[in-house]
Amino acid sequence: MTSLPVLLELQQVHDNLRTIQRDLTAFPSDLADLESERKRLAKRLDQLEKEWTEGLSRKTTLETAFAAAQKVEERARAAVKQTQQKVHYAAAIREVDERERERAAAARPLKELTTRLETLEQERTTTSARHAETEAQFQTLHDIFLAEHANQVSARERLLQRQTELEAQLPAPDLARFNRLLEARQGKALVPVENGLCSGCRTKLRIPLLAQVRDHGLGTCESCQRLIHLPPRS
Ligand SMILES: [Zn+2]
Repeated sequence: MTSLPVLLELQQVHDNLRTIQRDLTAFPSDLADLESERKRLAKRLDQLEKEWTEGLSRKTTLETAFAAAQKVEERARAAVKQTQQKVHYAAAIREVDERERERAAAARPLKELTTRLETLEQERTTTSARHAETEAQFQTLHDIFLAEHANQVSARERLLQRQTELEAQLPAPDLARFNRLLEARQGKALVPVENGLCSGCRTKLRIPLLAQVRDHGLGTCESCQRLIHLPPRS
C-alpha cells in the first residue's frame, strides 16, 4: 500500500496547481479577445484545409469524367467523317450533338469547382496571415501577462517539480490509478472521511470499510472509487 503522506502531498500539489492555473488563465479582456480570435482563426484554417483537400480529390474525379466525355465526343466526330450513307450520317450527327452536350455537362461542375478552389486559396492566404498576426499579438500580451504573474509562474514551476518528485515515489499502478481518479473526479483523487461520509461524494461509508480505513490509513469509497483517508487526529 502506497504511503499516505505522499498521496496527501500529491493531492495538495494538484489542488494548488489548479488554483494557480485558474489565475494564469483569467485573462484581461484584450488578451481574452485575442485568445478567442486566434482559436476561431485556427478552426477556420482547419475547415479551409479540409474543404481544399476534399475539393482537390473531387477535382481529380471530375477531370477524369471530363476527359472520358471528351474522348467519346471525339470518337463520335470521327465516326461522322467515316459515314458514307446519308441515313447513317444523320444519326451520326445526332450522336455528336448528344456527346457534345454530355461533354459540356461534365465541364460545368469542373469549372465551378476550379473557381471555388481559387476562392478557397485566397481565403486560406488571408486567414493564415491574420492568424499569424493574431498569434503574435497574443504572444506579446501573454508574455506581459505572465511577467505580471511572475509569482504564480514560479510557484507553478516549483509545484510541477515537486509533483515529479512525489510521483517518482509511487508504484506505477498506484500513480496511474491516482491520475485516473484526478481526471474522472474533478481533480479530487484522495479525500478525507468526514463524520462517516466520503467527503468526495457524500456517501455514508459502511462500518467495516471505516474500520479498514482506520487500520490501513487508506481505503476506497465504494460509491465514487476515490481514495479515502481519515483526517488527522480522529
Ligand atoms: Zn465517495
